[in-house]
Amino acid sequence: MGTATEATHSSLSSWQTAATVSSPSVLERLRAELIKIREDLLAEGDLPIEPATDKADLDEAPLAEMNQVIASKRNQTRGIVLKRVAMALGRMEKDPDDFMNCVECGEPIGKRLLALPYVDMCVACQEESDGSHKTGRRRSVTDYR
Ligand SMILES: [Zn+2]
Repeated sequence: MGTATEATHSSLSSWQTAATVSSPSVLERLRAELIKIREDLLAEGDLPIEPATDKADLDEAPLAEMNQVIASKRNQTRGIVLKRVAMALGRMEKDPDDFMNCVECGEPIGKRLLALPYVDMCVACQEESDGSHKTGRRRSVTDYR
């Protein structure tokens, strides 16, 4: 499972070093990357979620239910990524100069963006957003570490 991601990372690393500064060519590469991610996700399609009721087999019902949960969870994750990719492409379209900056603090997102072109926050803001401060996103431009 981890091999596919590793392959993506190694193909990215060749231009990572040159891509720390915001420039049109970097933006183009990020855009191409985003479009590719979107195409891959769309090509993959939703995982079939088997109807659990068909056979009414009591022995298989729990298993079918479990598979259903796994499949819908995966589809959900794909949906989130697809949404983020669409948002990233929209941001790039609207404000290319700002695309490589964190939406929270305005600082450059940096190399993180090259690994995950659809992220819109720097590591510090992302950690804060994922961490204990889940109740609300701070929008203050001056309040960053
Ligand atoms: Zn930030």
